[in-house]
Amino acid sequence: MSTNRLIAGNWKMNGLAADLAEAKALAEALAGEAATTRVALCPPATLIAQMNWQLRDSTVEIGGQDCSDKASGAYTGDISAAMLKDAGANLVILGHSERRAGHGETDADVAARVEAALAAGLEPIICVGETLAEREAGRAVEVVSSQVMASLPESLSGRAFAVAYEPVWAIGTGLTPTLEQIEEVHAAVRAAMVARLSEGGRTAPILYGGSVKPNNAAEILAVLEVGGALVGGASLKATDFLGIIRAA
Ligand code: PEP
Repeated sequence: MSTNRLIAGNWKMNGLAADLAEAKALAEALAGEAATTRVALCPPATLIAQMNWQLRDSTVEIGGQDCSDKASGAYTGDISAAMLKDAGANLVILGHSERRAGHGETDADVAARVEAALAAGLEPIICVGETLAEREAGRAVEVVSSQVMASLPESLSGRAFAVAYEPVWAIGTGLTPTLEQIEEVHAAVRAAMVARLSEGGRTAPILYGGSVKPNNAAEILAVLEVGGALVGGASLKATDFLGIIRAA
């Protein structure tokens, strides 16, 4: 597929085997449609292998939600990038704000995970975003630019990857920035990607994430430099997720 637009669903810690019916319904609905956008689901790691089997004849791609920066060893509970790949993932979300805030992941930790993902042949989706306090202090562009500079290793140059701008205050809240605010931050993200990676930072898509729903997807996806979406809650049901995909 020539497009690098990407709509990725993040199931977070939701989903048991029975919920794979939603992934199957999504794949079946998309089967007859001309693909203009890449579509991915990122289920909990426990479901990747089963989802990979369910979607074996589909164009829907599969991602993990995090990976270790280590290749293997005595790291109880952690999952390596190679394990995700082995289970059937080709993408991995890294540096989600729920990992940064809830698990203390720093920009350096995220960059190390990106290196591990690339080494295993996974395409990273690297998340950045400001908190409400940072936005209210007028620091959104500064914070997000600094996260891009420090979370993207130079080895990304020439590799497939995406950056997701996800304002922390918009995730799961029903709140979204104005279209002007999204455009402003996406322009800043692009500038930081180019500053960090030169030519290698020009073409990777910049996804928007944070309360994307079928009823706001079209206007958000039409904003300059919005190259797709990272979708949480609305990716759990095939009908909602399809509404977003069809708006792209
Ligand atoms: C997310 O978790 O990445 C996200 C964007 O969630 P939601 O769409 O539910 O705001």
